[in-house]
Order: sequence, then C-alpha cells, then structure tokens
Amino acid sequence: MAAEDEIFLRAKGRAFVGLTEESEKEWRGPFCFIQAADPQLGLMKAWRIGDNEGGGDEWAEEVQLTKQAVQAVNKLSPRPRFMILCGDLVHAMPGNEFRTAQERDLKAALSGTDPSIPLLFVSGNHDLGNVPTPATVSEYCRSWGDDYFCFWVGGVRCLVLNSQLYFDASACPALRDAQDAWLEERLREEASAPSRHLLVFQHIPLYTCRPDEEDDYFNTRMEGGVRQDLIARFKKAGVKAVFSGHYHRNAGGCFDGLDMVVTSAIGCQLGQDTHGLRIVVVTADRIVHRYHTLDQLRDRGMDEDLKQLLMA
Ligand SMILES: [Zn+2]
Repeated sequence: MAAEDEIFLRAKGRAFVGLTEESEKEWRGPFCFIQAADPQLGLMKAWRIGDNEGGGDEWAEEVQLTKQAVQAVNKLSPRPRFMILCGDLVHAMPGNEFRTAQERDLKAALSGTDPSIPLLFVSGNHDLGNVPTPATVSEYCRSWGDDYFCFWVGGVRCLVLNSQLYFDASACPALRDAQDAWLEERLREEASAPSRHLLVFQHIPLYTCRPDEEDDYFNTRMEGGVRQDLIARFKKAGVKAVFSGHYHRNAGGCFDGLDMVVTSAIGCQLGQDTHGLRIVVVTADRIVHRYHTLDQLRDRGMDEDLKQLLMA
C-alpha cells in the first residue's frame, strides 16, 4: 500500500484509526464536523446524455467541485473534527471500465484535505452495485476501508452502516446478517454505557420526508418494512440523527426525536439545490446542522450563529 493511500484506508477492524473509543470517549465541549455526499464522478455526463450505465471520461466538473469543497473545508474556523462522505463516491458501478479512473481522480482531489481533518467514507449503491455481492463489497473495502464501522469523536459514538445490505442482500445474505448482528451489539453497548450522542451515517435515507411515507418507484429511500424496523431500533437506542445522501436534494425531517438528515450532493444536483455540504455542530445537548453551498462557504465561511454555538 502506497503511503498516500493510507488516508483512505483508516477504517479497519470495524473501527477508525485515530478516532477510537479509547482516545475520544470523553466529552470535551462543542465541536463541528462536515457531512457531504455524492461527489459521484461521472454522473453529470450520464445524466445529461441519459446513460446511467457508463460514465464517460468527462468528470472534470465533478473533480473541480470536490476540490472546491476541500478548499472551503480547509479554511473553516473553528476547524471541523472530521469530514464524512456519505456514499456514491463515483458513478461507475463495480466492473465498469471507467471506475478505476474515477476513483483515482476522486482520491487526487480529496488528498488536498488538511491532514488534521480525517476523511471518512460511507458506501453507496454505485460504490457497491445495486445488488452487492461479496466480491463488490471486498473491492470497495480495498479502495475505501471497512464498509461498516464505529468511530468516536469527543464523546460522541458514530456508526457507519452499509445501507446496500439492507436494501438488497439477495446476493450476500451472510454479509447482511453479520452487519446486523454487529449493529445490534453496538446498540446494546450504547444502552449499557450511553455516550454523549449517538449518530448514524448511511447512504440511503430511511425516508425523505416522513417515516410513514409511501415506498417509491425511484428507490430513493429504504423499503417500508426495513425502514420501520431500523427506525424502531434506532429510537430505542437513542440515536439522535441519521445522516445520508443518495437523493441529490436536501430533505428529511425530525420525528419523535430522531432526525433523518438527507444532504444534497457535492456533484450532480437532481433537484433545486446547489452544490454544497452540511456543517454539523455538536453541543452538549443538541445536534445543529445546516447545508452550506460551496460558493457561500468560499465567500463567507460558516454561518455566524453556528460559530457562536461553537464558542459557547
Ligand atoms: Zn445513491
């Protein structure tokens, strides 16, 4: 493994190097982090020409947006504790001829991130395939580290999940069962030794508007039965917020204390939002988050009221 690749492979052994329970279990006051999604190199061209299989080699615009995001994050003050990308890192599905080049270019763009800001990755349907297999999951892990893991930051327990295993595990039921048993164990740990906050990160939202919304044709959310099961388990365990992408629009909503946060894309937009990312402020008793466009971040930085929360 080349040294420059190590920043992409810090999720291992179901933990994250440098953000472990031993080093980060204690609450040390408010902090912020960056949640972003769907740089998805290759989607813009596929979307414009109506080809969702290929990708072409014209993803320069998506590379530029990713670099703009990195530059804006590097300049933020106070400094974010980490940046997490919630899936669909590239557009080319496993086995697609453009995948290697898209991953190479995304890593080159991300490698400009300030070394003091750890980069964390969540697997999306394009990263694993819509019907993941043991082979496609392994391929993802070789490029981006573990597909599900736990990390800690300043007293907050964070769980990264592979939502594709809940979406369609028909080709890898054993992997779904293993993740689910692992998740249950983490939720049990939280029940016996509660952290300051419990957060979940996954690519596909549990819902985009309301927990009881209809399933839809476009697969923009979890199927109803899976959704209700996970929502019930998360609520029981005290999960405060679930952060996702996949929708390429800002959406979600808070119900019964569980905040489903759906964040639009760094890359191709499918709604009325503009390229951007979300700044999340964690205080002693609240999780406050707001989408910032990349242009706003470049010109004005973080919103003043969020800064105030961090100074408190
Ligand atoms: Zn997706």
